[in-house]
Amino acid sequence: MEKRRLYMDYSATTPVKKEVLDEMMPYLTDYFGNASSFHTFGREAKNALDKAREQVANLINAKPSEIYFTAGGTESDNWALEGVAFAHKEKGNHIITSKIEHHAILHTCEYLEKNHGFEITYLDVDSEGRISLEDLENAIKDTTILVSIMFANNEIGTVQSIKEIGEIAKKHGVLFHTDAVQAAGNILIDVKELNVDLMSMSSHKIYGPKGIGALYIKTGTKIHTFVHGGAQERRRRAGTENIPSIVGYGKATEIAKANMENHIQTLTTLRKKLIDGILERIPYTRVNGSLTDRLPGNVNFSFEFIEGEGILLMLDMLGIAASSGSACTSGSLDPSHVLMAIGLPHEIAHGSLRLTIGDFTTEEDIDYILENLPAVIERLRSMSPLYDAAKNERK
Ligand code: PLP
Repeated sequence: MEKRRLYMDYSATTPVKKEVLDEMMPYLTDYFGNASSFHTFGREAKNALDKAREQVANLINAKPSEIYFTAGGTESDNWALEGVAFAHKEKGNHIITSKIEHHAILHTCEYLEKNHGFEITYLDVDSEGRISLEDLENAIKDTTILVSIMFANNEIGTVQSIKEIGEIAKKHGVLFHTDAVQAAGNILIDVKELNVDLMSMSSHKIYGPKGIGALYIKTGTKIHTFVHGGAQERRRRAGTENIPSIVGYGKATEIAKANMENHIQTLTTLRKKLIDGILERIPYTRVNGSLTDRLPGNVNFSFEFIEGEGILLMLDMLGIAASSGSACTSGSLDPSHVLMAIGLPHEIAHGSLRLTIGDFTTEEDIDYILENLPAVIERLRSMSPLYDAAKNERK
């Protein structure tokens, strides 16, 4: 098979779809007004802003007035945690989260802990990456003000029982935030059904531009302003709105909503072909994360007797772009905190590979991986004395 240029890292980021770019372009040139201005140029920008807010709200069955545009998932996570923590500190200083959150959550929790005296409980997860609802309920106390549990994990794809978590939080009068950066636009979400009070979302995971996202804040939720300045975003998030990106994000959510069923079905089929094909061809391999409650495009393997970085380099030479964990932790030699939290030993966590499928992935792409990955793994394993020993034992 000829060498291909194959992108298998859709969880890190996605390309901007042509329809999205087409929608954005006029707002960089002809309709460049400031949405706060009173003249026609301003009104054009304001109309575009209103339309995009409606499109994003539609994706998750929220009201447009509950959508606040931010500079992406990281800002939404920071705002949700800090905004709620500071607004509710009279009531209590306790926040519950999990050990497998994205660093946008974990590092914000550390900041609140170290600099502002908040107490954080980090819930364990099981071997598939799910928190226990019983542990959650037991962790809630009088001082608890917020539960923040991610919708779907960016490394292993496991989707949490969000509705049940929301019910527990509601029962105890505690706010519930979920980081849905990987989920919103990739799986069906209805905030009204889920008892979610705050939800973080991002555009560049669903074929929109980078540096734009949103925080859903349910009507009536008490939260502090995060960015101070002008009156934009109903005085809750200041700064001249990034209209071209907001328009792009709106369009991306509209497309995601319209294609949801087909997107889920196509990606799940490709995912199955990839998982089954690899497990058939490569021994000493495990799939990380849940096989049932999983993001449609996520595949995460651990191959015994090898180093993840070696696989990435060799795959890159074959034109395959993959990841060993989250994009933010690749480059560090520590094994992923997510793989450690699901109980993988260091040496196995090190041999992990995340391949994420997206709307431009084809069956031929999967065939190319199935054809090439076994030889890559075999070559890396041939350098391991432990692999030799394991093979001899098998004979
Ligand atoms: N949360 C999760 C689960 C993510 O996967 C990411 C990005 O990878 C983020 C937050 C950060 O989002 P953004 O890149 O839009 O800042």
